[in-house]
Amino acid sequence: EAKAAGKGRHEIFAGPMDEVVARRRTIEKDLREAINTGTGLALAYQPIFSSDTNTMVGIEALARWNHPVHGALSPEFFITLAEERGLIERFGNWALREAATFAVKNDIPWVAVNVSPVQFRDRHLAQKISAILSDMGLEPNRLQIEVTEGVLLQDSPVVRETIKSLRALGIAVALDDFGTGYSSISYLRSYGVDKLKIDRSFVSKLGIDLEVNSIVQAIIDLARAMKMTVTAEGVETQEQRRILMDMGCAELQGYLLSKPISDQQLAAAYGRRLMASPSAPVRIG
Ligand code: C2E
Ligand code: MG
Ligand code: MG
Ligand code: MG
Repeated sequence: EAKAAGKGRHEIFAGPMDEVVARRRTIEKDLREAINTGTGLALAYQPIFSSDTNTMVGIEALARWNHPVHGALSPEFFITLAEERGLIERFGNWALREAATFAVKNDIPWVAVNVSPVQFRDRHLAQKISAILSDMGLEPNRLQIEVTEGVLLQDSPVVRETIKSLRALGIAVALDDFGTGYSSISYLRSYGVDKLKIDRSFVSKLGIDLEVNSIVQAIIDLARAMKMTVTAEGVETQEQRRILMDMGCAELQGYLLSKPISDQQLAAAYGRRLMASPSAPVRIG
């Protein structure tokens, strides 16, 4: 489906059906191997800024896979593949270990890691995450788990318990791509999460579609009323940034401030304590 589209898709899904199926099998096998050996996999890190102080407050870890033949494949493609092929738990563990190690080594305030809704079916998820943090030496309050709204809609006792346990451990839970799913206010209240991440599709229409301005303001007000933090995703222009700051959005993330960058680039930039200036933000990396 369209969501699985991305770089590599045209090449991978072109040609006669039997070839497409064979190619996909090969890629599955390659992904399994990449996860087992760690080869070709990496995390990119995107800084997240406080809109008050313009300083980097934390980072989001974003998976990258450089396929030996097809090159860089989009996470939307290979994460879906991992979910379908039963590889997502191993992948998720790898990503968490990697991100935690990086945050410890570079003294990063906190790191956000995306967790698949499929991983949330595991009743021991919170316990496993906690064990990895202990192994890597990262304090739980320096981890944020990002999940899409869809996970709440499963409305399962397992999901409920997991979110509760994570938060009891001190791990923050953020709702990713907020506004694109179907969360109701009652869901939000009964689950309890720490942060809303306003989806890029809203941010990109700020200042263009005034209805969107009102919706974003409403999300920010809702978050404040429920004592949640708000991050705007996909901030690409100064105008969007200014509007979000005027609206009281606490955190900003997007290409305007910094693209996702490699671990080495981020470590170097953060080591120099680069700040985004209010007028012309420094692009880290
Ligand atoms: P996400 O968690 O919502 O991550 C934000 C996506 O927006 C990233 O795409 C990021 O590169 C992109 N982005 C950030 N700022 C801007 C901007 O200003 N403009 C535009 N156009 N895009 C921006 P990416 O890296 O391709 O990741 C796509 C999705 O794949 C992520 O969306 C997340 O849902 C998933 N994903 C990535 N890494 C992981 C992972 O380790 N585990 C899991 N389960 N999912 C992951
Ligand atoms: Mg995310
Ligand atoms: Mg998002
Ligand atoms: Mg997403």
